[in-house]
Amino acid sequence: MNVKENSVTKINKVDFDNIVFGKTFTDHMFICKFRDGKWQEPEITPYQNLTLDPSASVLHYGQSVFEGMKAFKDESGEIWLFRPEENFKRINISAKRLQIPEFPKTYFFEGLEKLLLLDQQWIKSGIGNSLYVRPFVFASQPSVQASAALEYIFMIICAPVKSYYTGGEINVLIAEEYSRAASGGVGFAKAAGNYAAQFYPTSEALKNGFQQIIWTDANTHEYIEEAGTMNIFFKIDNRLITSPNNDRILDGIIRKSIIDIAKLNGYLVEERPIKIQELKEAHENGILEEIFGTGTAVVVLPIHSFSHQGKSFKLNNKTPIALKLKELLEGIQYNTSEDPFKWRYSVK
Ligand SMILES: *Cc1c(COP(=O)(O)O)cnc(C)c1O
Repeated sequence: MNVKENSVTKINKVDFDNIVFGKTFTDHMFICKFRDGKWQEPEITPYQNLTLDPSASVLHYGQSVFEGMKAFKDESGEIWLFRPEENFKRINISAKRLQIPEFPKTYFFEGLEKLLLLDQQWIKSGIGNSLYVRPFVFASQPSVQASAALEYIFMIICAPVKSYYTGGEINVLIAEEYSRAASGGVGFAKAAGNYAAQFYPTSEALKNGFQQIIWTDANTHEYIEEAGTMNIFFKIDNRLITSPNNDRILDGIIRKSIIDIAKLNGYLVEERPIKIQELKEAHENGILEEIFGTGTAVVVLPIHSFSHQGKSFKLNNKTPIALKLKELLEGIQYNTSEDPFKWRYSVK
C-alpha cells in the first residue's frame, strides 16, 4: 500500500465540542481503483477532491454501496473497532447485489487500520465521542451505457462525531403510501439509491412534525419493517420484538448485537413479523412500553410516539430497557466493560 502523508493538519480548526455529524473529515483517505479486471494497489492520500468524468456511471445509474462503522478510543488511548468483520462482509453482500466486484479483505483491513492510526488524534476518548468511518464503492467508468461498469473506486473516509442527542422527543410517522424497499429489490443492501428514495417522503414527514418514518411492507403496509435508517424494536408486555431480516430489511449490526446483549441479560426477544394493529392494541391495553431504533450512528434511539392514519399514539416511555441496552453496548465499544462476545477489535 502506498501512503502519502498530509504535511498539514486541519485538526486545530475543528471545534470538537460542537461538531455537526458528517461535515468534517480527517486529514487522510483510503482509495483503491478497480480496472483491467482487478483491484489495483491501494493508497492512502491526503483528504482531497476527486476528478470524475461527467459520464461516470455512478452519476447516471447509481451503482454505489457504502458502510457505516465507528472507531473508539479508550481512556488508555487504545483504538477499537466494533465488529468490523461484519461491515466488511456486508459491503461485499451489498456490492454483489449491485454487480460491483468484491473487495479484498486484506486491502480493507490494512487500509482501515493504517488510516485510523494516521488520523488517530481525531478520535477522542469518552462515551459519545467516536470516529465515524465511511467505506464506499462506486462505478467510476466513463460511460452512459446502462450496464455494469468495468471501473470502480473503493474509498474510506472518516468523520469525528459526538453522541447523537437531539434532546427532544422523537415522533415517527408510520408509512401508509410510500415504501423503502420491495421484495426482490435492494432493501437489504446499503445501496446509495435506497437513501435518495427516502428523502422526499421523509422531508414531507418532517414538515408535519415527525423526525422519522417507520417503513412498512410494500405490499400491504400492515407490517413494520424499519425506522428511517435504523432497525426498530418494540417492548410489549416485557418482551422485545423486532422484525425478522428479509430481503427488504438491512441486517443491522447494532440490531443483532442488541438482541444478543438483551438475551444475555435475561430479556425475552422475539424476531417475528409485527403488525401495526398489534402495536395499536398493545398501546390500548397499556402494554406497549417502549419503542426504539438501533444503528451505528445512534446506537439506540428511544421513540416517544407514532402516528398512523391520522391518529397519534404516545408512549409514557421511561425508556428503561432502551437506555440500559445502550449503556451495555457502549461499555463494550469503549472498552469500559467485559466483552463476552469478543466483538471488540483492537487497532494497532
Ligand atoms: C445502516 C442501516 C441500519 C443499521 O445498521 P447498523 O449495522 O446497525 O449500523 C439499519 N437500517 C438501514 C436502512 C441502514 O442503512
